[in-house]
Amino acid sequence: MLSVSPREERADALVSRREYVRVEGLGKSFGPHRALDDINFAVRSGEVVAIIGPSGSGKSTLLRCLNQLETQSEGSVTLAGITIDAAKPATRQQLTELRRSAGMVFQSFNLFPHMSVLRNVSLPQERVLGRSRKEADERSRALLSRVGLEAKADQYPNRCSGGQQQRIAIARALALDPKIMLFDEPTSALDPELGLEVLAVMQELAEAGMTMIVVTHEMHFAETVSDRIIIMADGRIIEEGPSAEVMRRPTTERAQRFLNAVK
Ligand code: ADP
Ligand code: MG
Repeated sequence: MLSVSPREERADALVSRREYVRVEGLGKSFGPHRALDDINFAVRSGEVVAIIGPSGSGKSTLLRCLNQLETQSEGSVTLAGITIDAAKPATRQQLTELRRSAGMVFQSFNLFPHMSVLRNVSLPQERVLGRSRKEADERSRALLSRVGLEAKADQYPNRCSGGQQQRIAIARALALDPKIMLFDEPTSALDPELGLEVLAVMQELAEAGMTMIVVTHEMHFAETVSDRIIIMADGRIIEEGPSAEVMRRPTTERAQRFLNAVK
Protein backbone atom coordinates (compact mmCIF):
# COMPACT_ATOMS: atom_id res chain seq x y z
CA MET A 1 0.00 0.00 0.00
CA LEU A 2 1.20 3.49 -0.75
CA SER A 3 1.79 5.59 2.32
CA VAL A 4 1.20 9.28 1.92
CA SER A 5 3.18 11.77 4.00
CA PRO A 6 1.43 14.81 5.51
CA ARG A 7 3.45 16.92 3.10
CA GLU A 8 2.15 15.05 0.07
CA GLU A 9 -1.37 15.24 1.43
CA ARG A 10 -0.94 18.97 1.81
CA ALA A 11 0.39 19.23 -1.74
CA ASP A 12 -2.62 17.29 -3.06
CA ALA A 13 -5.02 19.48 -1.12
CA LEU A 14 -3.43 22.63 -2.49
CA VAL A 15 -3.77 21.62 -6.14
CA SER A 16 -7.49 22.32 -6.12
CA ARG A 17 -7.19 25.70 -4.40
CA ARG A 18 -7.67 28.89 -6.32
CA GLU A 19 -4.82 31.14 -7.33
CA TYR A 20 -4.11 34.13 -5.13
CA VAL A 21 -1.12 35.41 -7.01
CA ARG A 22 -0.23 35.31 -10.68
CA VAL A 23 2.82 37.00 -12.12
CA GLU A 24 3.18 37.11 -15.90
CA GLY A 25 6.11 38.37 -17.93
CA LEU A 26 7.17 40.63 -15.08
CA GLY A 27 10.17 42.85 -15.78
CA LYS A 28 11.73 45.71 -13.88
CA SER A 29 14.54 48.01 -15.02
CA PHE A 30 16.30 50.64 -12.95
CA GLY A 31 17.75 52.79 -15.74
CA PRO A 32 19.91 50.44 -17.77
CA HIS A 33 19.98 47.86 -14.96
CA ARG A 34 17.70 44.88 -15.40
CA ALA A 35 16.56 43.88 -11.89
CA LEU A 36 13.80 41.48 -13.02
CA ASP A 37 13.43 39.75 -16.34
CA ASP A 38 10.41 37.74 -17.54
CA ILE A 39 9.25 36.44 -14.15
CA ASN A 40 6.32 34.03 -14.24
CA PHE A 41 4.75 32.10 -11.37
CA ALA A 42 1.51 31.56 -9.49
CA VAL A 43 0.68 30.95 -5.84
CA ARG A 44 -2.47 29.21 -4.69
CA SER A 45 -4.51 29.99 -1.61
CA GLY A 46 -2.90 28.43 1.46
CA GLU A 47 0.40 27.82 -0.27
CA VAL A 48 3.75 28.79 1.24
CA VAL A 49 6.42 29.72 -1.29
CA ALA A 50 10.02 30.46 -0.33
CA ILE A 51 12.13 32.65 -2.60
CA ILE A 52 15.86 32.17 -2.24
CA GLY A 53 18.86 33.31 -4.24
CA PRO A 54 22.05 35.34 -4.01
CA SER A 55 22.10 38.94 -2.88
CA GLY A 56 21.13 41.30 -5.70
CA SER A 57 19.17 38.64 -7.60
CA GLY A 58 15.93 40.66 -7.46
CA LYS A 59 14.05 39.02 -4.57
CA SER A 60 13.11 42.24 -2.79
CA THR A 61 12.25 43.97 -6.05
CA LEU A 62 9.91 41.10 -6.88
CA LEU A 63 8.10 41.35 -3.53
CA ARG A 64 7.90 45.13 -3.91
CA CYS A 65 6.34 44.74 -7.37
CA LEU A 66 3.81 42.27 -5.91
CA ASN A 67 2.35 44.90 -3.59
CA GLN A 68 3.19 47.75 -5.95
CA LEU A 69 5.68 49.52 -3.70
CA GLU A 70 7.56 49.37 -7.00
CA THR A 71 5.94 49.74 -10.42
CA GLN A 72 6.97 47.06 -12.88
CA SER A 73 8.40 47.95 -16.30
CA GLU A 74 6.68 45.08 -18.11
CA GLY A 75 4.12 42.41 -17.45
CA SER A 76 1.36 41.98 -14.93
CA VAL A 77 0.78 41.12 -11.30
CA THR A 78 -2.52 39.71 -10.08
CA LEU A 79 -2.99 39.58 -6.34
CA ALA A 80 -6.24 38.56 -4.65
CA GLY A 81 -8.20 39.24 -7.81
CA ILE A 82 -6.69 42.63 -8.67
CA THR A 83 -4.58 42.81 -11.82
CA ILE A 84 -2.00 45.53 -12.34
CA ASP A 85 -0.54 45.62 -15.84
CA ALA A 86 2.50 47.66 -16.85
CA ALA A 87 0.66 48.69 -20.00
CA LYS A 88 -2.14 50.37 -18.06
CA PRO A 89 -1.68 52.68 -15.08
CA ALA A 90 -3.34 51.39 -11.92
CA THR A 91 -6.13 53.39 -10.33
CA ARG A 92 -5.74 54.61 -6.76
CA GLN A 93 -8.57 52.32 -5.70
CA GLN A 94 -6.85 49.28 -7.24
CA LEU A 95 -3.61 50.12 -5.46
CA THR A 96 -5.33 50.63 -2.11
CA GLU A 97 -7.21 47.36 -2.45
CA LEU A 98 -4.16 45.41 -3.57
CA ARG A 99 -1.97 46.75 -0.76
CA ARG A 100 -4.67 46.00 1.76
CA SER A 101 -4.72 42.39 0.57
CA ALA A 102 -1.00 41.92 1.17
CA GLY A 103 0.60 42.15 4.61
CA MET A 104 4.30 42.92 4.38
CA VAL A 105 7.02 42.20 6.90
CA PHE A 106 10.49 43.59 6.27
CA GLN A 107 13.93 42.87 7.66
CA SER A 108 13.65 46.04 9.77
CA PHE A 109 10.59 46.09 12.00
CA ASN A 110 9.75 49.81 11.69
CA LEU A 111 7.67 50.04 14.86
CA PHE A 112 6.74 53.47 16.19
CA PRO A 113 9.10 53.97 19.17
CA HIS A 114 6.86 56.51 20.92
CA MET A 115 3.78 54.25 20.99
CA SER A 116 3.02 51.23 23.12
CA VAL A 117 3.16 47.80 21.53
CA LEU A 118 -0.64 47.66 21.62
CA ARG A 119 -0.96 51.04 19.93
CA ASN A 120 1.50 50.00 17.22
CA VAL A 121 -0.83 47.14 16.32
CA SER A 122 -4.09 49.07 16.80
CA LEU A 123 -3.42 52.36 15.04
CA PRO A 124 -3.13 50.96 11.47
CA GLN A 125 -6.46 49.17 11.96
CA GLU A 126 -8.13 52.47 12.84
CA ARG A 127 -6.46 54.35 10.00
CA VAL A 128 -6.76 51.73 7.26
CA LEU A 129 -9.90 49.79 8.18
CA GLY A 130 -11.77 52.41 10.20
CA ARG A 131 -12.10 50.15 13.23
CA SER A 132 -13.00 51.74 16.56
CA ARG A 133 -10.25 51.95 19.16
CA LYS A 134 -11.99 49.32 21.27
CA GLU A 135 -12.40 46.92 18.38
CA ALA A 136 -8.80 47.49 17.24
CA ASP A 137 -7.42 46.96 20.75
CA GLU A 138 -9.35 43.72 21.17
CA ARG A 139 -8.05 42.41 17.88
CA SER A 140 -4.52 43.56 18.76
CA ARG A 141 -4.55 41.74 22.10
CA ALA A 142 -5.74 38.55 20.43
CA LEU A 143 -2.96 38.77 17.84
CA LEU A 144 -0.29 39.67 20.40
CA SER A 145 -1.36 36.61 22.31
CA ARG A 146 -1.10 34.55 19.13
CA VAL A 147 2.56 35.63 18.68
CA GLY A 148 3.22 35.03 22.40
CA LEU A 149 3.47 38.68 23.43
CA GLU A 150 0.28 39.59 25.27
CA ALA A 151 2.40 40.50 28.32
CA LYS A 152 4.19 43.19 26.27
CA ALA A 153 1.06 45.03 25.13
CA ASP A 154 1.52 48.08 27.34
CA GLN A 155 5.30 48.40 27.02
CA TYR A 156 7.27 50.39 24.47
CA PRO A 157 9.02 48.61 21.58
CA ASN A 158 12.50 49.47 22.89
CA ARG A 159 11.79 47.24 25.89
CA CYS A 160 11.41 44.31 23.49
CA SER A 161 14.10 42.14 21.90
CA GLY A 162 14.56 42.16 18.12
CA GLY A 163 12.72 38.86 17.88
CA GLN A 164 9.83 40.23 19.89
CA GLN A 165 9.73 43.40 17.77
CA GLN A 166 9.54 41.33 14.60
CA ARG A 167 6.70 39.27 16.09
CA ILE A 168 4.91 42.54 16.88
CA ALA A 169 5.44 43.61 13.26
CA ILE A 170 3.86 40.32 12.15
CA ALA A 171 0.88 40.91 14.48
CA ARG A 172 0.54 44.43 13.09
CA ALA A 173 0.42 43.11 9.52
CA LEU A 174 -2.05 40.34 10.44
CA ALA A 175 -4.32 42.87 12.15
CA LEU A 176 -5.29 44.28 8.74
CA ASP A 177 -6.70 40.86 7.75
CA PRO A 178 -4.46 40.36 4.72
CA LYS A 179 -5.22 37.64 2.19
CA ILE A 180 -1.51 36.95 1.75
CA MET A 181 1.61 37.68 3.77
CA LEU A 182 4.85 38.76 2.11
CA PHE A 183 8.04 38.41 4.15
CA ASP A 184 11.35 39.95 3.05
CA GLU A 185 14.16 38.31 5.02
CA PRO A 186 12.33 38.75 8.33
CA THR A 187 15.06 37.11 10.40
CA SER A 188 18.26 38.33 8.78
CA ALA A 189 18.73 41.25 11.21
CA LEU A 190 18.32 38.93 14.21
CA ASP A 191 20.62 36.72 16.25
CA PRO A 192 19.94 33.08 15.33
CA GLU A 193 18.14 32.34 18.57
CA LEU A 194 15.77 35.29 18.15
CA GLY A 195 15.32 34.40 14.50
CA LEU A 196 14.05 30.99 15.58
CA GLU A 197 11.18 32.44 17.61
CA VAL A 198 10.12 34.48 14.58
CA LEU A 199 10.36 31.42 12.32
CA ALA A 200 8.21 29.50 14.82
CA VAL A 201 5.49 32.14 14.53
CA MET A 202 5.73 32.00 10.74
CA GLN A 203 5.50 28.21 10.79
CA GLU A 204 2.39 28.41 12.97
CA LEU A 205 0.90 30.87 10.50
CA ALA A 206 1.71 28.58 7.58
CA GLU A 207 0.12 25.61 9.33
CA ALA A 208 -2.98 27.69 10.04
CA GLY A 209 -3.40 28.05 6.27
CA MET A 210 -2.08 31.56 5.55
CA THR A 211 -0.89 32.12 1.99
CA MET A 212 2.72 33.24 2.25
CA ILE A 213 5.64 34.29 0.08
CA VAL A 214 8.84 34.30 2.10
CA VAL A 215 12.17 35.65 0.89
CA THR A 216 14.67 33.98 3.19
CA HIS A 217 18.21 32.80 3.83
CA GLU A 218 16.89 30.17 6.21
CA MET A 219 17.33 27.01 4.18
CA HIS A 220 15.88 24.78 6.88
CA PHE A 221 12.70 26.87 6.96
CA ALA A 222 12.51 26.88 3.17
CA GLU A 223 12.91 23.12 3.02
CA THR A 224 10.63 22.14 5.88
CA VAL A 225 7.88 24.80 6.00
CA SER A 226 7.41 25.98 2.43
CA ASP A 227 5.51 23.95 -0.14
CA ARG A 228 7.55 25.27 -3.03
CA ILE A 229 10.89 26.98 -3.52
CA ILE A 230 11.74 29.51 -6.19
CA ILE A 231 15.44 30.17 -6.76
CA MET A 232 16.38 33.47 -8.37
CA ALA A 233 19.64 34.62 -9.93
CA ASP A 234 20.36 37.74 -11.98
CA GLY A 235 16.73 38.85 -12.04
CA ARG A 236 15.38 35.53 -13.30
CA ILE A 237 13.79 32.42 -11.86
CA ILE A 238 16.38 29.69 -12.41
CA GLU A 239 14.63 26.89 -10.54
CA GLU A 240 11.16 26.25 -9.15
CA GLY A 241 9.47 23.21 -7.67
CA PRO A 242 8.36 21.31 -4.55
CA SER A 243 10.71 22.26 -1.71
CA ALA A 244 12.26 18.86 -1.04
CA GLU A 245 12.92 18.27 -4.75
CA VAL A 246 14.52 21.65 -5.33
CA MET A 247 16.76 21.25 -2.29
CA ARG A 248 17.85 17.69 -3.10
CA ARG A 249 17.87 17.67 -6.86
CA PRO A 250 18.24 21.12 -8.39
CA THR A 251 18.17 20.77 -12.16
CA THR A 252 20.43 23.66 -13.14
CA GLU A 253 24.12 24.07 -12.48
CA ARG A 254 23.60 27.65 -11.28
CA ALA A 255 21.01 26.55 -8.70
CA GLN A 256 23.28 23.73 -7.56
CA ARG A 257 26.13 26.18 -7.07
CA PHE A 258 23.94 28.50 -5.00
CA LEU A 259 22.63 25.68 -2.82
CA ASN A 260 26.12 24.27 -2.26
CA ALA A 261 27.25 27.70 -1.10
CA VAL A 262 24.43 28.19 1.42
CA LYS A 263 23.63 24.68 2.71
P1 ADP B 1 17.85 41.02 -3.51
O1 ADP B 1 16.69 41.38 -2.66
O2 ADP B 1 17.75 39.69 -4.17
O3 ADP B 1 19.16 41.16 -2.79
P2 ADP B 1 17.13 43.46 -4.93
O4 ADP B 1 15.77 43.19 -5.45
O5 ADP B 1 17.25 44.30 -3.73
O6 ADP B 1 17.91 42.06 -4.74
O7 ADP B 1 17.99 44.15 -6.07
C1 ADP B 1 18.09 43.62 -7.38
C2 ADP B 1 18.98 44.52 -8.20
O8 ADP B 1 18.30 45.74 -8.44
C3 ADP B 1 20.29 44.89 -7.52
O9 ADP B 1 21.28 44.95 -8.50
C4 ADP B 1 20.00 46.24 -6.93
O10 ADP B 1 21.17 47.00 -6.81
C5 ADP B 1 19.03 46.83 -7.95
N1 ADP B 1 18.10 47.79 -7.34
C6 ADP B 1 17.16 47.51 -6.42
N2 ADP B 1 16.44 48.60 -6.09
C7 ADP B 1 16.96 49.61 -6.83
C8 ADP B 1 16.65 51.01 -6.96
N3 ADP B 1 15.65 51.58 -6.27
N4 ADP B 1 17.38 51.75 -7.84
C9 ADP B 1 18.37 51.17 -8.55
N5 ADP B 1 18.71 49.88 -8.48
C10 ADP B 1 18.01 49.10 -7.64
MG1 MG C 1 16.58 41.86 -0.63
